[in-house]
Amino acid sequence: MRGLALLREQGAAVTVLTVMSRANESGIDDVYDFCERIGARFCCTPMQPFGAGRDSGANRLSASEILEAMEAFGAQHSLDWRSVRRVFNTARHVQYSWGDRQTCCDLGKGVLSVSPDGTVYPCVHLHGSVPILGNILEAGIEDILLAGNRFRAGLAVDILPECRTCGYRYLCGGGCRAERILTGERDPEHCNLIRGVIERDLALLIS
Ligand code: SF4
Ligand code: SF4
Repeated sequence: MRGLALLREQGAAVTVLTVMSRANESGIDDVYDFCERIGARFCCTPMQPFGAGRDSGANRLSASEILEAMEAFGAQHSLDWRSVRRVFNTARHVQYSWGDRQTCCDLGKGVLSVSPDGTVYPCVHLHGSVPILGNILEAGIEDILLAGNRFRAGLAVDILPECRTCGYRYLCGGGCRAERILTGERDPEHCNLIRGVIERDLALLIS
């Protein structure tokens, strides 16, 4: 923490990303207050069932617990739902573009992940788990984005069996593809969380 404060004193932009689980939920407010004090940006994301959270089991919070935590965080820090959404890295892929259908998350398009040797993957969580999009040292960015589009097309929300009849699909776009690819399934709790977030967003939009 002292190191982060020193970086801020030297004028560096600092973002602190906290992964929230049952183990540290009660300390989130303290991290936020610390970031406010030193002028750092604070982000929080619920633990996911892959990567470091692969074996997190009971430590992961349910959708209703995460939604409650988000609302309590807003009340504690006098932030409205819109501001809470900016802090919590939850359902970031949900989009509300009038006339546009959200058919996928950002992987392979708004998100690319590049290995030190130049190999490009469609998401940081998918290194070694999916075909590469190319190598940035050899291919142009246009070719890589075309490969990304082809990869995304195979994961479009309308062809995902569990998503294609979901009433939230064109706002949600089908959720995190890394979660599906790495765990082999769609986590129903993640869907509950996405739906809860969308309902609160829409309530704000029409209020
Ligand atoms: S809420 Fe769940 S089922 Fe519905 S589109 Fe999103 S990921 Fe698919
Ligand atoms: S796969 Fe998941 S982590 Fe990767 S870009 Fe999509 S939503 Fe984000």
